Amino acid sequence: MNRLHDRQRPLVEALRQRFAIFDSLWQRFPDNIFLIRCGLDGRFYVEAINPPLEIMCGVSNEDASGMLLEQIVSPDYLPAVEARYRECVELRAPLTYEEVGSAPGMPAQYWLTMMVPAMDQHGRVEYILGISRDITVIREAEEALRQTNEVLERRVAERTAALEAANQRLRELAIRDGLTGLYNRRHFFELAEMELKQAMRSGQALSVVMIDLDSFKRINDSLGHAAGDQVLREISEVFRSVMREADVIGRYGGEEFAVVMAQATDAEACLLAERLQMAVASARIPWRDTVIQCTLSIGVAQYDPRFDPSLDALIERADVALLDAKSQGRNRVIVSQPDHSHPRPHELFN
Ligand code: GH3
Ligand code: MG
Ligand code: MG
Repeated sequence: MNRLHDRQRPLVEALRQRFAIFDSLWQRFPDNIFLIRCGLDGRFYVEAINPPLEIMCGVSNEDASGMLLEQIVSPDYLPAVEARYRECVELRAPLTYEEVGSAPGMPAQYWLTMMVPAMDQHGRVEYILGISRDITVIREAEEALRQTNEVLERRVAERTAALEAANQRLRELAIRDGLTGLYNRRHFFELAEMELKQAMRSGQALSVVMIDLDSFKRINDSLGHAAGDQVLREISEVFRSVMREADVIGRYGGEEFAVVMAQATDAEACLLAERLQMAVASARIPWRDTVIQCTLSIGVAQYDPRFDPSLDALIERADVALLDAKSQGRNRVIVSQPDHSHPRPHELFN
């Protein structure tokens, strides 16, 4: 072996020969130990390596002793290793770091290394003692755990999303009518109550529109219940396409629908009602080898604190106007006139 060194007394060898206990420890210590001498020429010399490091480097302690660092460390890692030694020399304090490396085609190996500098009487770092522990098993276990966690987190996220979607579907089922997809009666009342309270607080206008399909029973009787269902679905589509986003519409009963229009006077509600009436009247609903046509009767009432102590009272006025539309020949819109000399609704239709 080529020995490039300004060799002094081999320190570890001397200790091992002098103290049997030290030799025993040196022989049996399971982590890699190396003692590096920092030459006056600024280069690093191997002073000693213990048995595990002998195996790893493929060189005996005897041969390694006195070698230059570059003779024992692969050129791939040499710059990084030298940089660490320099850092330790400059710091003049213990240094711990982790390294990762692998032989070609081999899995990565992780090392946790601690270096301790020893100074001569002038304070110059003369030796560096290094202990390097193979922590590959720990890092691999951590990586496996991280990957397992990632898979778990993905699964949890997927399940949470599926649950949220299911909850959303349930919420929709709870508030919507199954046939038409419009709000069901209960939810319509909840929203209508909220809108009315808001109108009561703000003093802004609010109107209710009650809608009933004309002679709907005849469709059922002549074409069957399925045809009637199809008409209800199609007409609900027409409602959706004509109404404002802010309007609240619900299926009030069998072939009856109700709308609450916030910030709308009865004149504005009447305009919407007429648009609905005309849109439905002009709709042609295909059914098997025929086409179904139908019309709407509509009653409109604007909230008026003098006459409407509750939502029910307001709806009742719109309902009476609707019955008025029926009795006047159907396919029309009638607006409730509470403050005129009209008879009270229940007096009209008892
Ligand atoms: P009018 O013009 O006076 O309102 O007459 P109409 O025939 O529309 O009113 P009536 O109250 O006599 O009949 C309503 C019919 O609506 C009776 C009922 O069987 C039918 N109906 C209620 N709900 C549904 C439903 O979900 N599907 C179907 N196909 N028919 C329904
Ligand atoms: Mg009806
Ligand atoms: Mg009807």
